[in-house]
Amino acid sequence: MSSSDVNGLVVELMRRGASLLSETCPNCGGIMLRYKGVTFCPRCSGFTSIEEVEEKLAAPKDLLGDIEKLIYEGLREDLQALRSARGIEERAASLRSLREELEVLEMLLRVKDKVSGIGK
Ligand SMILES: [Zn+2]
Repeated sequence: MSSSDVNGLVVELMRRGASLLSETCPNCGGIMLRYKGVTFCPRCSGFTSIEEVEEKLAAPKDLLGDIEKLIYEGLREDLQALRSARGIEERAASLRSLREELEVLEMLLRVKDKVSGIGK
């Protein structure tokens, strides 16, 4: 990929909301971008088109985002159930469900951190 192609890709990424990082690529010394939570060097990443970037970077992120949304919905329901719980049994059941939801959320956030941790 020629450097003018890389520049074109960078311009397009910036237009789509990518941010330019202050640190440079440890590999080629070029600029580093952050897009959709992922940090990468447009030159070394080997991306040849904006479509490729969208496909490779966005897909897992969106998927995780969907799961996260669902977990938050579940948490809200658990909270409501906990508030309206009558007696220790109902309360314990709500807390159990809440804890499971939080465990998944914690895992999810850890995975998300790893996905976006490239170049951190
Ligand atoms: Zn590089």
